Amino acid sequence: MLLPEKEARFKTCPLLKTSDDKMKFCQGEACMMWRFKNPQRKDETDPGYCGLAGKPAGAM
Ligand code: SF4
Repeated sequence: MLLPEKEARFKTCPLLKTSDDKMKFCQGEACMMWRFKNPQRKDETDPGYCGLAGKPAGAM
């Protein structure tokens, strides 16, 4: 799913959990798995995706 980092930060991450086992939100660019669609454009409004599941269709 391509979306701006500022929206991704309101999606739950499949890996991160709190100490009491609750889901946490995506960390966006602060996470090593975050990828911007265009590596030259890294603003929070530029589209990107979580690299865990590979490239989404629109990111080619
Ligand atoms: S980019 Fe990182 S923090 Fe965001 S969903 Fe993927 S693994 Fe979780």
